[in-house]
Order: sequence, then structure tokens, then C-alpha cells
Amino acid sequence: MTRVLVLNCGSSSVKYRLFDGAATLAKGLVERIGEEGGDAADHLAALQRIMAETDLDGLAAVGHRVVHGGPDFHAATVIDDAVVRGIEALVPLAPLHQPAALSGIEVARKLLPSVPQVAVFDTAFHATIPPEGFTWAIDTELAGRWQIRRYGFHGTSHAYVARRTAGVLGLSPAETNVITLHLGNGASACAVRGGRSIATSMGLSPLDGLVMGTRSGAIDPTVIFHLHRVAGLPIDEIETSLTRHGGLLGLAGENDLRAVLSRRALGDEAATLAFDVYTRRIREYVGAYLAVLGRVDAITFTAGVGENSPAVRAATLSGLEPLGIAVDPARNEAAAPIISPDGGRTAVCVVPTDEELEIADQSRAALGWED
Ligand code: AMP
Repeated sequence: MTRVLVLNCGSSSVKYRLFDGAATLAKGLVERIGEEGGDAADHLAALQRIMAETDLDGLAAVGHRVVHGGPDFHAATVIDDAVVRGIEALVPLAPLHQPAALSGIEVARKLLPSVPQVAVFDTAFHATIPPEGFTWAIDTELAGRWQIRRYGFHGTSHAYVARRTAGVLGLSPAETNVITLHLGNGASACAVRGGRSIATSMGLSPLDGLVMGTRSGAIDPTVIFHLHRVAGLPIDEIETSLTRHGGLLGLAGENDLRAVLSRRALGDEAATLAFDVYTRRIREYVGAYLAVLGRVDAITFTAGVGENSPAVRAATLSGLEPLGIAVDPARNEAAAPIISPDGGRTAVCVVPTDEELEIADQSRAALGWED
């Protein structure tokens, strides 16, 4: 019961990884699905191709990454028809992401009918956020009717990284408080108390919170009314602008932080402002989560930017020495797991995330094969 195939189905791509325990036996990416010259015509063809190319002998389970678990899916869940209907009902909450996961589930169940399948939700880790942390101060009746609340995302990553941080510090996860900063193309912050999420920066959708590659992060909602009413833009266009043409791309014309960093090194003004807006926003959330947690054992950076950019790590936490938070320059360059000087109140860590491994582990746990 150790072999698990993890599938991460996007609208035009399928990422897969086959595990035996924690070891990776095979992995790959089928891209530009449905596009001319792409790797596959649709999700069915993509999964058929993955199965033809991968030795699935002894496969015990398939773990699916599902973006939205809505208000009811609080943990990884073994998939049956009712669960599929439950995931379908959440399409309006995640119209850009949920349909791809559903087609992956449908096709995988068809092609592997005797293998149990598990849905692992990006939102589930945040189910422990208390009501005062997930409720917005809007009309309760409207919010209830339309399932409007903070759900949060990147949950498998925050869960994995918080647990690994406790390991790095030699503490048990149940006694460790961590602020996890997942900084990739998408980005979010999370306050984790004793292994449980109590606050996170993404909201109803992954648009809220930190500045991202192409997403604006948090803005005053009046910006939307203004663009609609005064500028005359249709709602769909505003959504596209905020989700695909915002963030670093909106500010500097580049969604890849590496390009922003090299232009900033040459003194480019737009790139410099983009970097400053990006890191200041992260610092604002760090401050908020220090206040929410009270005692913080570690602040952990992860994902593409968090794992690879000493400049972002240093700038984000600069000036916080009076709060007992500091980054040691040499350790930061080396991305040693602990990059703070010895003896500080709050450690600063760099911990590579592994969402697929966490999905495999949670799939086995959901099937009762492990703790
Ligand atoms: P992810 O979504 O976790 O794969 O992160 C992807 C993002 O990480 C890319 O868009 C880059 O902006 C960023 N990234 C990757 N490598 C580096 C690096 N060496 N320095 C700065 N940013 C990086």
C-alpha cells in the first residue's frame, strides 16, 4: 500500500508524480492540453499518455490535488460519487481551477476503476481557522447564502512546511508556532499554531493577500467598482486584469521575480518599486501574524521565490531586529535551513516545499494506511 500516483490537473496541463513511500519512481508534465501542437488533445488523452508511459504495477491509490474544498471538505477525502458531486458543487467558487481537477478525477476513475482515489484540498488545512479569522464583516445573510468567507489555499504546502520547520528546530509540531511564507508564482502567508492553521492571506479565491506573479493580492474592493463604473470596464475584464495582469507583471512588466531582480540591479525604477511593494506586503502580513500568534518560534520561507531569493528574504525581514527577528547574511546566501543568527527569539528558516509528497502522504492517511 505504498505506491501512490499524485495528479495535479490544471486547465491546460497535468503534472504527475509516482511515489513508492517517499521515493519518486516517475514524474512528468503534460502541457498545452487542447492547444495546437500541444502534448494531448484533452485530459483523457493526457492521462492515457501518462499511464502508458508509467509503470503502474502495484499502484495502491491516486491522489488528486483539488483547489477548492468549500466549507465542508476539512480533510483529504476518499472519492466516491457523492464526493464528486460535492466537488462539482464548488465550481462557482473556483471557476478557473475546479473543472480541471474534476476532469482529472473523472478520467482517472474511468481508467483505473479498481484503484482508490483521494481528493486532497488546497483549502483543507485552513479549516481550523477560527470564525473571527475567516469571517468578513459583510451582511451575514448574503455571506451565508453565497458561501462567502475566507477559505485560504496552498494548504498542503503550509502544512508540510510548518511540520518540517518543527523538525529543523528539533521541536514537535504540536508545540511549534510558525509563520509560513509560500512565495511562488502564487503566494500566501499562514499563521500556524501547534500544527494548525489559524490565519492565512488568501481568501474566497487565491487572489487575496500577498502580491504575486500576475495577481494583485489585496486591494480596496472600491478599485473594482471604480474600474466598472468610472472606467467602464466589464467585470470579466477587471477580473482578468487583477488575476492575470496584476502583481509583479502589472508593476514591472515581468511576472518572474528573477527578471525583476536583474532589472532592479541595473537601477530600473519600475522593477525597484515592484520589489519594494512585493516585500513590504509580505512584511505587513508577518507583522499581523506575529500579533495573531503572540509567540513565534520560526518564520519560514518556501516555494520558488522563498527558497531561491536571498534578496527577498533579507528585504522582507529588514528592520525587525527590535522584535527579535534577524537574517544572517552568510546563512541567507547559503539558504541554510536556519538563516537567523544563533540565539534569537524567532528563528528564520528556508524549507523547500513538496506539495506532491504531502498529497501522497495525506492520500495514504485518508485510506487509513498510515497515521
Ligand atoms: P513556484 O510557483 O514555486 O514554482 O515559483 C516560481 C517562481 O519562483 C518563478 O516565477 C520565479 O519568479 C521564482 N524563482 C525561481 N527561481 C528563482 C531565483 N533563483 N531567484 C528569484 N526568484 C526565483
